[in-house]
Amino acid sequence: MSGAKEKVLLKVIMLGDSGVGKTSLMNQYVNKKFTAQYKATIGADFLTKEVLIDDRNVTMQIWDTAGQERFQSLGVAFYRCADCCVLVYDVTSQQSFRNLESWRDEFLIQASPHNPEEFPIVLLGNKVDLENRAVGVKRAQQWCQSKNNTPYFETSAKEGINVEQAFCTIAANALAQEHIRQLRNEYANYGADFLAQIDLDRTEPSRDSKGCSC
Ligand code: GDP
Ligand code: MG
Repeated sequence: MSGAKEKVLLKVIMLGDSGVGKTSLMNQYVNKKFTAQYKATIGADFLTKEVLIDDRNVTMQIWDTAGQERFQSLGVAFYRCADCCVLVYDVTSQQSFRNLESWRDEFLIQASPHNPEEFPIVLLGNKVDLENRAVGVKRAQQWCQSKNNTPYFETSAKEGINVEQAFCTIAANALAQEHIRQLRNEYANYGADFLAQIDLDRTEPSRDSKGCSC
């Protein structure tokens, strides 16, 4: 077993207003493609990309919405066991920047991570290739500072600007989070076995305690 590279699966979710470029960023990162055609819905739930981080084979599973973000009803499966949340706004849209607050709140409520203060969130200000910028860099950076120094990248899915760098940080932060989750799961399993042993003669261990504890 020694020397074998461990396989890790990371779940990354993309959140933000409709039209900010979430699908385009994903496509640029995974397929190196950009299309100017506006498609509100796509068929797939996620795209995957294999990356090597610190000698570990990592599969990034990047979850996209299928346009339901317009109704803010993404369903619990979308949020479940996420290792990193990517918030996206459009630098030419004030509204998409203002809405970041509610996307962040929504994530923290729906995913309810154990460590909300430390949970990795990365902010992307997309469409920097456009002239009609409406949100300044400083404003975005201040927002990030007020949110536990959220990492911030200015990207263009169209021109491929900063996309690779942003996802590299996203992957590294997700990996760190996954490691914490693994440790917590080990603890949880140990706890369940321990409790099952104690309760063996008295009652069946509760099946509800099994399952995802991310
Ligand atoms: P989503 O709804 O957040 O998934 O946004 P999409 O990826 O579907 O993009 C919405 C529209 O913005 C499409 O017409 C894209 O071609 C365009 N778009 C996305 N990213 C960029 C970008 O970086 N620059 C420019 N100029 N247009 C972009
Ligand atoms: Mg989309």
